[in-house]
Amino acid sequence: MICKFCNNSDVIRSKSINSPFYPEKNYILYECKHCLSRFFNVHQHDVSINEMYEKLALSKKNLSITFLKTQYWEDQKRYILQILNKTPKLILDVGCRTGDFLMHFNDAIIREGVEISNYCTEIANKRGLKIYNKNLESINFNKKYDLVSAYNILEHLIDPLSFLDKLSSIINKNGLLVILIPTHESLREKLLMRFHKRWHMYVPPEHLNFFSTRFLDSYLNKYNFKLIKRYYSSGGIFNPFKRIPVINALFNKFMYFVDKSFINRLPIFDHLFSYYKKIE
Ligand SMILES: [Zn+2]
Repeated sequence: MICKFCNNSDVIRSKSINSPFYPEKNYILYECKHCLSRFFNVHQHDVSINEMYEKLALSKKNLSITFLKTQYWEDQKRYILQILNKTPKLILDVGCRTGDFLMHFNDAIIREGVEISNYCTEIANKRGLKIYNKNLESINFNKKYDLVSAYNILEHLIDPLSFLDKLSSIINKNGLLVILIPTHESLREKLLMRFHKRWHMYVPPEHLNFFSTRFLDSYLNKYNFKLIKRYYSSGGIFNPFKRIPVINALFNKFMYFVDKSFINRLPIFDHLFSYYKKIE
């Protein structure tokens, strides 16, 4: 097996992981000793990826046109404006779902999204957003953006490198690229794999790619993207008290402050946020 990221042949079969979508199927988790990334081979089993996503979409058909601001996206917006040091004119959120993140910016900004789900696109359109309802790679952009975000997308893609190539080509000088991926280079992954025997991010064939920070940074550096900010977050899902409302609320508050503290610079949690600025 050749590494799908760096093309090196120093790849080992690290583990066998059961698919939550096809319980009778196991996928080999490959690990590249050269770039430290990990991946599943989507072709290991003859299953329909489209069918899997249809099933997933049907299980989440309770999305609303009504839009509510959230602390999560407000924080994202604040970090971005701090780094950009000015208000962006043109923004693009790739994999924007119903456009929640875009809706946190006011409509004086040109807000666009890319989303393959027809159902989500319909809702985002009703919210007044411009959505490209197709794969990023097949879109002919006639402009460049001040901000491009890709939250929770890279891990899903069959060809994540051509996706990154395309993203890199549509960002203005001094513009910002924001990427959120699950990271296997975290203490949480190690603890869960050691004691729980599974990490909820290893869900083949929905999640296929696990970039190492080393590889992601060096790949984007080639396109003159410089890492400006990086932190590790629990993603707001790490709560063992979900069933007890009062403790749930307190715990969420506590986790919010933990997430924002200095410990988010350490690879403890498994949601990795990276902010790259395009320099030239
Ligand atoms: Zn590699």
